[in-house]
Amino acid sequence: MENKQGEQQRHYDVIVVGAGMVGAAFACLLARANTNLSIALLEAQTAFAFDHQQFDPRVAALTEKSRRLLQCCGVWESIAAQRVSPYTAMQVWDAEGTGEIHFDCQDVHQPNLGHIVENSLVVECLVAEVDQLDNIDFICPITVAHYSKSESQVTLELNSGETLVAPLLVAADGGNSTIRQQFNFATREWDYGHSAIVTTVQTEAVHQQTAWQRFMPTGPLALLPLQKDGDHHYCSLVWSQESDEAKRLMALDNRAFCAELSRASERCVGKVMSVDKRFAIPLRQRHATDYVIERVALLGDAAHTIHPLAGQGVNLGFADVSALVETLCAEAKRGNDLGSLMTLNKYQRLRKPENLAVMAAMEGFKRLFAADNVAVRLLRNMGLGKVNQIKPLKNEIIKRVMGF
Ligand SMILES: Cc1cc2nc3c(=O)[nH]c(=O)nc-3n(C[C@H](O)[C@H](O)[C@H](O)COP(=O)(O)OP(=O)(O)OC[C@H]3O[C@@H](n4cnc5c(N)ncnc54)[C@H](O)[C@@H]3O)c2cc1C
Repeated sequence: MENKQGEQQRHYDVIVVGAGMVGAAFACLLARANTNLSIALLEAQTAFAFDHQQFDPRVAALTEKSRRLLQCCGVWESIAAQRVSPYTAMQVWDAEGTGEIHFDCQDVHQPNLGHIVENSLVVECLVAEVDQLDNIDFICPITVAHYSKSESQVTLELNSGETLVAPLLVAADGGNSTIRQQFNFATREWDYGHSAIVTTVQTEAVHQQTAWQRFMPTGPLALLPLQKDGDHHYCSLVWSQESDEAKRLMALDNRAFCAELSRASERCVGKVMSVDKRFAIPLRQRHATDYVIERVALLGDAAHTIHPLAGQGVNLGFADVSALVETLCAEAKRGNDLGSLMTLNKYQRLRKPENLAVMAAMEGFKRLFAADNVAVRLLRNMGLGKVNQIKPLKNEIIKRVMGF
């Protein structure tokens, strides 16, 4: 269709901006759930290439619930066929005392507690699936020059000269969401004063398919098990540190870094033998006061970013995906307006309380383990030890870890 100036206008039911794990999963799931809906998925960057030789430094610990969502998107089999690392146990301990807790999938009669996946592989598989679906137009690389909205639709003017319109715009454009800023969504946010050092390390001992996490006053250190062709000597490192300490660690040469990491991890996987290129990611807590306004919904990191200490960020994002797809499909069936505030508020009601609760719990954890007070340390040690002994409570926590 042409507008008054004779330019091309393309109409969709839903426009999604951002083909990261969350946006691509959303587009995929919605397109499969309702083949009558027409969807545009826009992405600014071209590079999704998954490197079969080297591990991606960005990984996520996926819950069983998230794994099932990827299965519903039709991509889990292809992810698993390429590279995925199930973990069967979790060992969490306090650097400042004797407190420790061990979770095992056998306690809840499950084959694993979750899977470590590489972000680039998940995105690559989702984008490959999107390409197969007739009711999605994947537009990439693309820059949106201008966003506007009226009572009945949003309009996106692309740098290519094209104009896209739809009754609903879904912002899955990440933590620094342009759309969130363009439409003046209020946020509550603060700097953790932490950066996460991420990379892949090769270890002396096998990781035993265990996710290792040591809480230090300066931040948590996680070694997540990876596997390549059956070799269990690789772990993904997520080492959250106060920013100055992170700078110091980043400046070390590889040998010195491996030695520090061996010490800090108490050689739980033996000595750290080698390390890939390191990246430091500044950490910020952010939560949009509202996830929706008339015609626009925020999804995943665009709505909330959280400290990676419990590996929940994309799991919450996938739960958003599920809730928004469910809401839109139900409203489409009734012939209702997909971008109305009434529709979008249903999604917000499903997701905001849970996201807030998880974010508050993570903040509590972070503060608890940062506390240097002797009494808090004692309680911490006793607390971890007690939870470790109370089987029903421990099993309840395991179920939460698995996303149920
Ligand atoms: C160190 C670290 C470890 C983590 N570990 C875990 C974990 O173990 N488990 C877990 O659940 N979560 C984890 N997370 C969180 C997880 O990585 C994020 O929640 C997740 O990547 C968010 O996905 P997203 O698709 O919402 O956003 P992003 O991954 O940021 O994707 C946004 C996409 O939008 C595109 N985009 C941005 N702006 C535009 C625009 N204007 N136009 C078009 N496209 C645009 C970007 O190019 C990108 O592709 C971790 C995070 C960190 C920092």
